[in-house]
Amino acid sequence: MTKESNTYLSVVVPVYQSDNSLEALITRLRLVLAGISTEVELILVDDHSSDRSWELICAAAETFPDVSGIRLSRNFGQHHAIAAGLDAARGKWTVVMDADLQDLPEEIPHLLSKARHGYDVVMARRTNRKDEHWKIAFSAIFYRFFRYMTGTRLDPAVGNFGIYHRKVIRAISEMREAIRYFPAQVQWVGFRQGYYNVAHGKSAVLQSGYGFRSRFHLGLNALLAYSDKPLRLTIKLGFFIASIGFIFALVTLIRYFSGLIVIPGYASLIVSLWVLSGLVLMTMGMVGLYVGKTFEGVKNRPLYIIDQKT
Ligand code: UDP
Ligand code: MG
Repeated sequence: MTKESNTYLSVVVPVYQSDNSLEALITRLRLVLAGISTEVELILVDDHSSDRSWELICAAAETFPDVSGIRLSRNFGQHHAIAAGLDAARGKWTVVMDADLQDLPEEIPHLLSKARHGYDVVMARRTNRKDEHWKIAFSAIFYRFFRYMTGTRLDPAVGNFGIYHRKVIRAISEMREAIRYFPAQVQWVGFRQGYYNVAHGKSAVLQSGYGFRSRFHLGLNALLAYSDKPLRLTIKLGFFIASIGFIFALVTLIRYFSGLIVIPGYASLIVSLWVLSGLVLMTMGMVGLYVGKTFEGVKNRPLYIIDQKT
């Protein structure tokens, strides 16, 4: 963010393989924005699509002065694309939304008017989620697990779509962590947060930008970024197994010396197996904890790399 600007509303859209929804999106967005203010900007961040998305963004940027495009040097993922857009946004308010028209541009005035009634963040809550069943099921499980692991409560009906005041965007932009998950960042920064129920459109993009695999990675990353509970669980598990091992060792030794065990080598084998596995698991967990923390700190890479700008 450079200097204070007169821009009233910025709209940031991460774009990936969305050439069939892009034109409709831009048209509908500009129509809606025209009704709000003349000081608007539409920032389309192309996450290195291989289809015609960037071409279309360039064409739109040439035709409309309020549209600008950023193309990343490779596919960084939607949350990094959002970060690139937020760094460029100068509006007093910023809307973040998906490119596939599942987030309806027509809802923006409602979000804004709710925000004006004393909120810094108004998140869109999708009441009738129009997604495949596996997606809904996956996110339901993930959100529950996320809450258990991190203690942060995320609403499964809330995605990226929402309106955010400049100070919220600034706070999020200052979070330069490499593992990013926008809805969790919004929760983390705080401020006065509200919800607004919106309709959810059917995806205009036939093939979603990413499938189960990338979703799983995204979920795992978000979890690791916000929690060291998995590592703590490993330590506990290791401790538990090691304790069983020691008890087992004791029992086996007693049995050995009282002549109850006749198979040679059994006692030493079984004891070392249990005790060592437990100890190994426990130390791995502890080492992991430190490695994880150090890794976070030292890998000070840029969040995204810009290839082109319009
Ligand atoms: N997206 C992106 N980079 C990616 C994948 C997706 O910028 O690697 C964008 C995509 O263009 C869309 C948003 O992120 O604007 C959400 O993607 P998608 O619709 O595939 O996800 P879903 O709505 O199913 O969660
Ligand atoms: Mg979508």
